[in-house]
Amino acid sequence: MKNEEKGIYIHIPFCKQKCFYCDFISFANRENIIKDYVQALKKEIQYNIKNFTNVTTIYIGGGTPSFINEVYIKEILEEINIDKKDLEVTIEVNPGTATESKLRAYKNIEINRLSIGLQSANNKLLKQIGRIHTFEDFCNTYNLARKSRF
Ligand code: SF4
Repeated sequence: MKNEEKGIYIHIPFCKQKCFYCDFISFANRENIIKDYVQALKKEIQYNIKNFTNVTTIYIGGGTPSFINEVYIKEILEEINIDKKDLEVTIEVNPGTATESKLRAYKNIEINRLSIGLQSANNKLLKQIGRIHTFEDFCNTYNLARKSRF
């Protein structure tokens, strides 16, 4: 157990709107507390930093991590002050919130994997379940991701 590999999971509980089927801890219309949440998260990271040994993955999930400003994501990753060169570092991306500049920013802060959410390729169904994007938005995000060297 001594050399057990570890993964760090970071939860970002904010979304642009709440999907109708969603049971995750996530909130819409709470932009006013994002800054405070990130500050609290950074304190929590410092509190746990002694346990960050043998880490092989970092996963930033939600919620919608791509909804909040990329500067916050940078701050959070900087707070996890370990060598990330050989790690798999993932962020969840909602196609309705991704821009080219955001994806490029992720690339510049050592994120090397995206998880792009698509629940259906059927736009009618996407609307029915409360998703904020279309299938075409997903394709656009995928193409932007490839262009940004993901
Ligand atoms: S985007 Fe994801 S976390 Fe946010 S409400 Fe929809 S399913 Fe839930």
